[in-house]
Amino acid sequence: MTITGFTGAGLDRADHVRLDAERLAEMMAHGEARLLRLAELDPVLDGEGRLVWEPFAGTDGDHIFLGLDGGAPHFAPLVRMQTLGQRAWSVFRLLSMMSDRDAAIWGAARSVNEWHNLHGYCGICGSPTLVFRAGWGRKCPNCGGEHFPRVDPVVIMLAEHDGRVLLGRQPQYPEGRYSALAGFVEPGESIEEAVARELMEEAGIAVRDVRYVASQPWPFPGQLMIACIARAESDAISLDRNELDDAFWASREDVRAALACDPAAPFQAPPPFAIANSLLTRWSAGD
Ligand SMILES: [Zn+2]
Repeated sequence: MTITGFTGAGLDRADHVRLDAERLAEMMAHGEARLLRLAELDPVLDGEGRLVWEPFAGTDGDHIFLGLDGGAPHFAPLVRMQTLGQRAWSVFRLLSMMSDRDAAIWGAARSVNEWHNLHGYCGICGSPTLVFRAGWGRKCPNCGGEHFPRVDPVVIMLAEHDGRVLLGRQPQYPEGRYSALAGFVEPGESIEEAVARELMEEAGIAVRDVRYVASQPWPFPGQLMIACIARAESDAISLDRNELDDAFWASREDVRAALACDPAAPFQAPPPFAIANSLLTRWSAGD
């Protein structure tokens, strides 16, 4: 069983502490309280590739209470971002060195931070909002509206036909990279319906028997990736060139070679921390 990236943080989120000012103050004053070091929103690693934690004592400003590790409270700073909505390519090199646990902890801190930066005003009345729930929400002092960090569901899927799976290439991918097709779930749609719609829109492929495989939080900025496999009715591809540069059907041998970083592989696999990699790993193993 492969572990999907950005999962396995292992912290007790201790939700009951978030609205309890007295307990939260105890957590902040705790001798073992730790604060995650961030470079803007990017992770900061020590010489061994681990996240850097500093003593919490004496810090001020707003924080996100990430949870408890054993008894030790862990916090992340709430950072004012200089550039919003930036893509993640610069961080991918660091992520490839990080443990699954560290990536999961940092991913949550990144997602919540970006949400705060984009939601400084009340969506109901337009007034500036304030941090509450120990960083897991914002509240409007004018109308009392409460706002919570959003998670956007995205389906990511392999269509399978005659022992091969459909892979596509988005224009912004690094050279040679192909991956599973993906798209946002829209209001009024089930996961199965979103999978079928995206495959039809992007590649003209009709599918049936959509099966859920696994999920992963993706912190750029806050998606929940829902990985599925479906059966394609045919292998005739009709590309939407606004979405994809190219698509092709990959065999198990092709996928195994790509996952093994074989230079003769017909494509470059997505990075190990992406759920597309886990999905391809499972499929190529016959799962
Ligand atoms: Zn308001």
